[in-house]
Amino acid sequence: MTYCLKNSSRVFASNIVTSSLLPLFNRLTLSQLNQPKPKSYSTASTSSLTFLHDFIETLEIEKPASMVDNAAHQLARLDNNNTLVLLSLLKHDKKLIVAGRKPSLSINNEILKLSEKLSTTNSALPIIDKTKNKIARKRERGETFSVAAATDSLESAQFMLYTTSKPTSKESQLFNYCLQHLKKRVYEAISRQELEKNARMDTLTGLHNRRHFDETIKIECERSERYLRPTSLIMLDLDYFKKVNDNFGHQTGDLVLQTLGKVLLELVRQSDTPCRYGGEEFALILPETGLEQAEKIGERIRRTIEKQNIVTHNNIHLKITASLGIASTDEIQTTDLIMAADQALYRAKENGRNQTATSPNPPQLADEPVINHCFPAQAVLV
Ligand code: GH3
Ligand code: MG
Ligand code: MG
Repeated sequence: MTYCLKNSSRVFASNIVTSSLLPLFNRLTLSQLNQPKPKSYSTASTSSLTFLHDFIETLEIEKPASMVDNAAHQLARLDNNNTLVLLSLLKHDKKLIVAGRKPSLSINNEILKLSEKLSTTNSALPIIDKTKNKIARKRERGETFSVAAATDSLESAQFMLYTTSKPTSKESQLFNYCLQHLKKRVYEAISRQELEKNARMDTLTGLHNRRHFDETIKIECERSERYLRPTSLIMLDLDYFKKVNDNFGHQTGDLVLQTLGKVLLELVRQSDTPCRYGGEEFALILPETGLEQAEKIGERIRRTIEKQNIVTHNNIHLKITASLGIASTDEIQTTDLIMAADQALYRAKENGRNQTATSPNPPQLADEPVINHCFPAQAVLV
């Protein structure tokens, strides 16, 4: 289906003239509900409404990354597939999206000027041909860029639309209507993303939470198996942390946990996943990392923790240490990774704390599950 409204702009304008945005929306709602259309609808009107309907359908909030790009391509079709630029200002991120036909040299020049003036991010679609522009001797004439529509700038998300030919006021109205919808959808997508992100964060430490850990370790282990690449896991437990709480109070305990969160976030790579596993236990997933390298990272973390000088609200200076257990899929089965790192951590504790230990190979499984310690000596199960 095509939406060549430019070619029939007069017809299009006369159809839109009769409709304020509200009836336009009502008609759209009617068509969405598959209700019988009033007889007076002309083909051109239906096609513009179909466009609106399709445009809204394109805005998939599940795919926020591609939503604005898709919207720009849809809007370019409205402009007879001429070059169209959508400027999106999302909070502090500026992005120029060029859609439609490959821009002619003069329009190309305009886009370059626009992108320089607005110092946009590099995320614009790379169809701007800079080299061609430089060698151009003859400037094409008669082509200009017009601001076709813009959403209000009061909110942090704003969109501006530039088209190659000046749209009529009614065309601008339609563009505006589309942009308002786009903006609304972008906000929905952002708040959905934030909700999802928050559901995976630990608010005290700023690290990922256990839920994120469980999902990530599964993904990384599968990836490790499929591509035969190592993934390592470090389990970390603070030493004698209960004493911190008992002697200095939970507020100080929380401060220690926050300090640990900062240390982990500072020391790890972008691709690593530092998580609060639970209580005063932390986990660090290291993709593309073998045991030897993971051990070095673990030691670096341990030494950094040891050096921390934590000053409490009542000016007490605290020193803390941690024990770390490390396991890697280059040494053990992925299904045993968590257990192996846990066992290594247990050994680090037993050997005196404030140290790292690596996983045994293969992990030492107990013949019988050791449950004796779960019951008082005199408890008898019948
Ligand atoms: P070990 O060296 O053997 O690990 O000794 P530990 O004292 O660190 O170990 P234990 O598991 O006995 O104590 C963990 C403590 O962590 C107990 C619990 O009160 C505390 N804790 C767990 N979550 C939090 C939290 O969110 N805030 C604070 N302040 N304390 C927490
Ligand atoms: Mg513990
Ligand atoms: Mg502990």
